Amino acid sequence: MRVTLLGTGTSSGVPAIGCDCAVCRSDDPRDRRTRPSILIDLGDDADRAVSVPFAAAARYILIDTAPDLRAQALAHGVRRVDAIAFTHSHADHVLGLDEVRRYNFMQGTAIPCFGDAATLGDLRRVFSYIFDGRTRAGGGIPRLSLFEIGGAFSLGGVDFVPVPVMHGPMPILGYRVGAFAYLTDCSQIPASSWPLLAGVRTLVLDALRDRPHATHFSVAEALQVVERLGPERAYFTHISHDLPHAATCARLPPGVELAYDGLILEVS
Ligand SMILES: [Zn+2]
Ligand SMILES: [Zn+2]
Ligand SMILES: [Zn+2]
Repeated sequence: MRVTLLGTGTSSGVPAIGCDCAVCRSDDPRDRRTRPSILIDLGDDADRAVSVPFAAAARYILIDTAPDLRAQALAHGVRRVDAIAFTHSHADHVLGLDEVRRYNFMQGTAIPCFGDAATLGDLRRVFSYIFDGRTRAGGGIPRLSLFEIGGAFSLGGVDFVPVPVMHGPMPILGYRVGAFAYLTDCSQIPASSWPLLAGVRTLVLDALRDRPHATHFSVAEALQVVERLGPERAYFTHISHDLPHAATCARLPPGVELAYDGLILEVS
């Protein structure tokens, strides 16, 4: 399977509006970071079964709908989305939800969306126009089917394992798929979640900046997680403008680097 890092920036994006720092003015394209999201392509051999009452084939799974979803889809050629799994409902992870109308139109189906109870509740409230059942003239609204996550679920014949993590005081979800794990927005991994991550070979993990932060791992804290889990490769995401790509990668240990928008990971 193939994972595309659609967005690797923190909530403000990089460059940040009105900032003249060296990273925000950098001409290295890897220093331009849109809001966090990934696309998982399960590949041709997925058996196309979905563990929900849908005829939809499941090959392309989007994790979160960032405010930059439209630009990300255009930049990275995302032509199909079969399901969406949400990590949590913060604005930088959900505000692109309306953009999935294009996929409804092209695919002719509703899109199944998976999230925990708190996330789905927030989606119903923030996007009340999608869920209030009223018919509107013109325009159109996304067609979505919400499924509350109660444990691992299967998409395209592949198990998606929710991994509870703490984002400051807020419990949110990461995901493990095979030997790959995606833990965005994380400041602590609870004891009960470490076993869910055992044997992960490719890890994408929150590392906001060097200075500590109340709701995100710093680079040093993220490196401690990498050391404990021992993946073959680790990529840091949700990156602020404090971290220039090239200079930061140069000081990270072997097998660890900053992710960047458009990075493609081949994982088993
Ligand atoms: Zn800046
Ligand atoms: Zn968040
Ligand atoms: Zn975030």
